[in-house]
Amino acid sequence: MKNPLFEKLFKNKENDENVFLSFGDGTSLTYKEYVKMIYEFSSIFSSIGLKPGDRLALKIEKSLYFLVVYGACVHRGLIFLPINDSATTKELLYFLKDSETRIVISDKEQVHELKKFLINSDVLIETLEKDGTGSLRTIAKCAHFSAEPEVRNLQDIAALLYTSGTTGRPKAAMITHENLISNSKTLMEFWRFSRKDILIHALPVYHTHGLFVATNVILMVSARMIFISKFDVDSVIKVLPKATTIMGVPTYYSRLIESPNLTKELTQHMRLIISGSAPLTKELSDKFFERTGKRILERYGMTETNMISSNPYFGERRAGTVGHALPGIKIRICNPETGKRLSRGHVGEVELKGKNVFRGYWKMSKKTQENFRHDGFFRTGDLGKFDQQGFLEIVGRLKDLIITGGLNVYPKEVETILDSFSGVKESAVIGVPHFDFGEAVLAVIISETGSVPDVKHIAQYLEGNLAKYKCPKEYIFMNSLPRNNLGKVLKKSLREKYRNYFTNIE
Ligand code: AMP
Repeated sequence: MKNPLFEKLFKNKENDENVFLSFGDGTSLTYKEYVKMIYEFSSIFSSIGLKPGDRLALKIEKSLYFLVVYGACVHRGLIFLPINDSATTKELLYFLKDSETRIVISDKEQVHELKKFLINSDVLIETLEKDGTGSLRTIAKCAHFSAEPEVRNLQDIAALLYTSGTTGRPKAAMITHENLISNSKTLMEFWRFSRKDILIHALPVYHTHGLFVATNVILMVSARMIFISKFDVDSVIKVLPKATTIMGVPTYYSRLIESPNLTKELTQHMRLIISGSAPLTKELSDKFFERTGKRILERYGMTETNMISSNPYFGERRAGTVGHALPGIKIRICNPETGKRLSRGHVGEVELKGKNVFRGYWKMSKKTQENFRHDGFFRTGDLGKFDQQGFLEIVGRLKDLIITGGLNVYPKEVETILDSFSGVKESAVIGVPHFDFGEAVLAVIISETGSVPDVKHIAQYLEGNLAKYKCPKEYIFMNSLPRNNLGKVLKKSLREKYRNYFTNIE
């Protein structure tokens, strides 16, 4: 195949009049229209001199154009770099520099800001608004259309996805064409997706869940998505009667069951309700089941590996577990220190191997090496165990990752910014249970002697430097941080101390 990913997901749809996306305002986009736009954008990229392997960064709000640019990158052989639309300019500049991006596309406001920092740089900067207007489209008038995709092979990189590092420095996972093809094919078959499906898509599109799990599976079977720009209970409830399936994070389901409008009748016809990206508690799974008669199918995955395991489509879906390894994927539980394999019932680090596993971290060969065992198994950093029936349970994380509303926050990144605020001596950022977000970011601050920094000012400072979801929900002042004999902050004890902080006050 000339360009395997393009051929699997986009080709042969040039004359397909079926709807790919439907929107809240009653409008829709057919596959034929979608592919035509992909060719248009791909031609623009070619006319401005982008070559296969060049990095293209995209930071725009969720819209159909996000998916058009994705398709055009695959067609033109570019490496797609989707960026969280709430990333700050500082964060964006880091991604651009680290990935040596050739072109960045964003809205007018962001571009205006970026240009101040990239005056002498040779990075191309174009605007694209969520209605499709912008400087990029004006180039289209002179671009020559071509349906011929660039040649790519399975090991070529299709996308770079940044995941925050525990050291505070985000790393980019190199996702290959093979990773994406193998995983979407596996999911499509395992979850029985077909052309008849209508998926509610309320997820962000810059993250692997909304982009590669949801969108790729739908593209693979030429099905339809109800494209909602941002999750909200009413919009989702309104379209439930039209949908056959939904993919979401646990927070979606906890919010849905709060609504008196969620009824058995509304969901009765739905064939599949999927949750992932963060732990779905047994409690929530059971409550959802009581309300709707539908058992949510929980699956487990990560940016670096795409999807790893899933509860079964047929048969028992065991609440509180993430099911079994997907076909073609091997999972084992090992002692994180020794690497020795552990037997059923024992907690250890989850390791896996399969065509779904990424090629490594961009320009970080040492980091990549550290995360792979000699026999090719990838170390997830998650702690888990197999129960007696072989269902995998994720019980925690080796790293201190906080997952709030399905989005990842690495404490170190927040602490570094907090500590740079005048009057803050040191800080510890932890995740504690939250009734709505699953986990919430909480900052514990030790102030400099004689100084009492104003919380309002700290919050403003953080919001100027970090995406909003990474900013702490609350700030607590202490005299000193608990530490062990080696001077390490005992975050576990902080988490214990404040575990009911948000559950008590709500
Ligand atoms: P991301 O790279 O943003 O997809 O985040 C991956 C991390 O999310 C994993 O390493 C897990 O810690 C967590 N995760 C994803 N799905 C689940 C799940 N179903 N249950 C528990 N944790 C999950």
